[in-house]
Amino acid sequence: MSSCLEPENEMAAPEKLVRIQTERMREQVLHAYQHSPFNRAKFDAAGVRPADVRELPDLRRLPFTTKDELKQDQADHPLWGTLLAVPFEEVLRVHMTSATTGRPLAFLDTADDWYGFYHSYARSLYAFGVRRSDMVMAAFSYGPWIGYWSGFYAAQDLGCLVFPAGGLSTEQRIDALLAWPITVLGCTPSYALYLAEQAARKGMDLAKETKIRVTWHTGEPGASIPATRARIEAAFGAVAYDLPGLTEIAAWGFECDARAGLTHVHEDYCYPEVLDENDAPVPPGGRGELVFTSLYRKAMPLIRYRTRDIVQLADRRCPCGRTLVAFEGGVLARLDDMKKVRGIIVYPRRIEELVRPHKGVDEFQIVFRRVEGLDDILVRVDPSPSLSTLERDGLRGAVAHDLQLGLGIRATVEVTEPGALPRWDHKARRVKDERSEVPF
Ligand SMILES: [Zn+2]
Repeated sequence: MSSCLEPENEMAAPEKLVRIQTERMREQVLHAYQHSPFNRAKFDAAGVRPADVRELPDLRRLPFTTKDELKQDQADHPLWGTLLAVPFEEVLRVHMTSATTGRPLAFLDTADDWYGFYHSYARSLYAFGVRRSDMVMAAFSYGPWIGYWSGFYAAQDLGCLVFPAGGLSTEQRIDALLAWPITVLGCTPSYALYLAEQAARKGMDLAKETKIRVTWHTGEPGASIPATRARIEAAFGAVAYDLPGLTEIAAWGFECDARAGLTHVHEDYCYPEVLDENDAPVPPGGRGELVFTSLYRKAMPLIRYRTRDIVQLADRRCPCGRTLVAFEGGVLARLDDMKKVRGIIVYPRRIEELVRPHKGVDEFQIVFRRVEGLDDILVRVDPSPSLSTLERDGLRGAVAHDLQLGLGIRATVEVTEPGALPRWDHKARRVKDERSEVPF
């Protein structure tokens, strides 16, 4: 079973890991203070000097950094902001975060930063069982999103033969999967389902007609949702893995092939804190917001960066033997996705967990709306074309029943005509909030 690309770090004794982290953290804190005006101002405002941050728990003396602050910094100091801590000629790569509103955040890396990003990613691929004998397709779009580039470089770092599919259409990608001995596929979970659906429409079964044995998924949490993952695995006849990441930090997490429901963290690259609503560290088993300090990126060093992702610290060891800290089941919720409906907090991910197990559902959409002045959740379900009218009606009732049970409030369910809802070739936008203001 499991093996590690770098057992000396991934399976290090806890004290060794702390030593590596502490060394890198001290170097990073000093670098950020000396070379990044953004960080220096934050240190000064908090009255903290680099020399005050000797051990990992000392990080708590430093203030948090938020994405809004980074965006504001780039708006106030175009183009790159005052976070930039190296001379411009030392930067090698620029990527943009996928912004839903406003200008995207531009994120720069030096050559070493970039190596750290894709090399830790390669460690994840290795944990999925990807080896140099594999042929890999990274089916992400060729653009400023880091997902394509890091997946491509990570596979190449392992010595795999990489099929460059960034600029190809879905049809061309399906042709390539059928024509070449591609054994590993990376894409968003929504795109995996879309690919399979498009192939099925042409009478092709990707599980039978391709050589894919491993898929990995990033950009969305779908592959950590059991019912979504099961669909992808059935569609490709492969084992599917979740790979959570953040442009500003790293492709920070991975499941291993022990498949124990745990997401390991590359904590020698990025030091995680899991904090409760009072910003105090949660005990093992506790849930909270994930906060990262980058231990390797020099161009834009982030300290105590609030990810707005909710995770649960594991209180058990993974059978693979890795000592890296682990979370239960990946990113459980995103604070930015949180909705309040009649006083109850609802996360779209939870709705997906309840809708996806219904085999008759091909696609779905979630609309938060107001009906006669009251909050309402409308879940539109796009049924499998094979369903009869009677079965569609049964599906509507069954989904409504599970939503009510799982959410604790009633939701309206509509069944559309087959194929009526949009499909997604990148990150899905299945959630709409039609309420004029969000009553937080
Ligand atoms: Zn493991």
